[in-house]
Amino acid sequence: MSATSSTVTPDQLFRREVLDLMAYSVPDSFGMAKLDAMENPYLLPQSLREEIAHIVAEASINRYPDADAGRLKESIRAVTDLDQDMGILLGNGSDEIIQLLALAVAKPGATLLSVEPSFVMYRMIAAFTGLRYVGVPLTDDFTLDLSAVLTAMRQHQPALIFLSYPNNPSGNLFDAEAISRIIESAPGLVVVDEAYHAFADASFMPMLSRYPNLLVMRTFSKLGMAGLRLGFIAGSKAWLGQLEKLRLPYNVNMLTQYVAQKLLQHHDVLLRQAEQIKHDRAWLYDRLVGLADVRPYASDANFILFRVMHADQVFKGLKDRGVLIKNLSNSHPLLLDCLRVTVGTQQENEMFIRALQESIHQFV
Ligand SMILES: *Cc1c(COP(=O)(O)O)cnc(C)c1O
Repeated sequence: MSATSSTVTPDQLFRREVLDLMAYSVPDSFGMAKLDAMENPYLLPQSLREEIAHIVAEASINRYPDADAGRLKESIRAVTDLDQDMGILLGNGSDEIIQLLALAVAKPGATLLSVEPSFVMYRMIAAFTGLRYVGVPLTDDFTLDLSAVLTAMRQHQPALIFLSYPNNPSGNLFDAEAISRIIESAPGLVVVDEAYHAFADASFMPMLSRYPNLLVMRTFSKLGMAGLRLGFIAGSKAWLGQLEKLRLPYNVNMLTQYVAQKLLQHHDVLLRQAEQIKHDRAWLYDRLVGLADVRPYASDANFILFRVMHADQVFKGLKDRGVLIKNLSNSHPLLLDCLRVTVGTQQENEMFIRALQESIHQFV
């Protein structure tokens, strides 16, 4: 090292917001039944996997991908009920789209509003893009407190509102009328985040033409492509055209474009898997209802939130038995003693229920 080399530290150089962040942590799941991250537990049929192998082998990965991903966008339109005059913007996962929106509105003093508990990335991204963040508490049973949201909107004039529909981590769909009221009263953009759309029978996509300040976001992560990183947002071209300028040119890589396009040609395969997951969600819910001292919350997503006494110890008991779920007990006051399980294969679900019963019995 030269004598003049700087001894500057991150503490001195980085923004306070960055230094104060807690990194999003992903626990080691090696060898465990992985029911913590809302992934689709199923692989693709062998014939489709072979087609993908061929596509990947033939791809010119020495070249940059199609910057506009026009063919992939067409494939997405083909499986999405979307007016031709609405635009689509693609992201490297929908997390990236949340970040783009936040960057676009991040004037000094601008506010991002959401409800709590909800998807943690809204708050995190607000923090590191320099937005003020307002989280309006849900009611005790995780429904939308409309008057509290409207009051907070009047007070903070949010540039951006995010509503997860169904909500993560509670799994429920908020009242559609209440969401419409929020959109109608909003001084800025409202993003309805439909990450779990495949498992719910409701969508705000048809409302895009009614509400010019509405954007609807979806991801393919929960539908079986978590490893590809692909999300999209739909809405009027006036908004999306501006956001396009912020999008880095090759944010969706070539292999993701090709493979996702192929999978969307076989959308029925993915939808059948989603149907299986919905079926198994009902099974899992019934089992949880049947357990003493367990209170599950009804879900329109591919996971179930439940409350149990001694959640920390029960979580650990599950882990010791090879089942990894998500412990939310210490993440928000409304989630005290709450755990969240992703619907897995039938075998994984049975293993989870067995492990849960044993873990609870340790304490009674
Ligand atoms: C999982 C999730 C996302 C992000 O998914 P990506 O993998 O980044 O596409 C967005 N919103 C909610 C509510 C989620 O649960």
